[in-house]
Amino acid sequence: MTDTKKTALITGITGQDGGHLAELLHEKGYTIYGIIRGQHNPKREITEAEFPYVTLIEADLMDPSSLVRAVQISQPSEIYNLAAVSHVGYSFKNPQLTAEATGVGVLNLLEAIRLVDTENKIRFYQASTSEMFGGLEYNRPEKGYTEESLFHPRSPYGVAKLYAHWITKNYRESYNMHASCGILFNHEGDRRGVEFVTRKITHAVARIKLGKQNHIELGDLWPKRDWGYAGDYVEGMWRMLQQDKPGDYVLATGETHSIEEFLDLAFKEIGINDWKPYVKQNPAFMRPAEVDLLLGDPTKAEQELGWTRKVDFPGLVKLMVKHDVEIESVGLIS
Ligand code: NAP
Repeated sequence: MTDTKKTALITGITGQDGGHLAELLHEKGYTIYGIIRGQHNPKREITEAEFPYVTLIEADLMDPSSLVRAVQISQPSEIYNLAAVSHVGYSFKNPQLTAEATGVGVLNLLEAIRLVDTENKIRFYQASTSEMFGGLEYNRPEKGYTEESLFHPRSPYGVAKLYAHWITKNYRESYNMHASCGILFNHEGDRRGVEFVTRKITHAVARIKLGKQNHIELGDLWPKRDWGYAGDYVEGMWRMLQQDKPGDYVLATGETHSIEEFLDLAFKEIGINDWKPYVKQNPAFMRPAEVDLLLGDPTKAEQELGWTRKVDFPGLVKLMVKHDVEIESVGLIS
């Protein structure tokens, strides 16, 4: 490992944040390795084409020896753990898989680091989430959740992430690892998976504009989230690992908006002021327990990391709709 050129290992390279982070680290001159799972991952080809500078290593968070191998091969100075079963609704249907990948998978990775990195030089980032807070009235600070707020996860995903969060803190305290947790509030963009509500909306809006679809089916419309742009958030992840000391940081916009507000702006982008005739509510998309409202207070990240989000809520909706109209016009969906 040289001091002049940094090397990063990114898990979840095929996901939304993995793509944004790979771009950012490439601009900064890093050597980049990415973990890809599965015998025949359909995303391999597109990942290789989009990020030719990333060396892919086959591994799985649920296979400890594959992680040891990945750390040995890459010899990274920084590891960003972005891999997870990350969809809240899916986690209710696959709770054990979620616990094993999103929760215990992080323990597997931390152990792999401990085994390989005997000099304790690797810096580690864990992708924690606002879903750990749960959004209930009793634990909701007026100005938004901070790093010190009480956790009350409301889904198997949130519970698994809370284990991952605490095991990361535990390894920091027990083994003096430079391990940081970014407690990130929702962040979206043109790389968001179409299974997530924001992208589901912008994708459908684009298709409605082009006459390819006439309505969209959604679950509850009242939940509120603190939505930012993923490109801004990966900058915060990187900044955490450049600090002398590890820590936990909330990344958020400090604003909260409902799904209805998202629909409002997205449909206005295609000239439709009343979205109600185009939206049907389907109980299949409603969750056994919902998170009412998430709002983050990013003061610590702003002060200590000098981080702030650049894209605001209308700007986010606009860029997502614009992108989806463009790709749907030529018949592509990513
Ligand atoms: P994403 O698009 O769903 O990507 C998840 C990634 O994890 C994919 O690359 C997926 O690989 C990989 N993965 C899943 N199971 C795996 C396993 N067993 N072994 C190895 N890789 C596995 O998620 P994202 O939006 O980029 O989010 C990145 C991280 O931040 C996730 O941990 C997420 O939970 C967390 N987070 C996200 C948000 C947000 O709003 N986006 C907010 C807070 C926290 P495949 O492509 O092979 O499925």
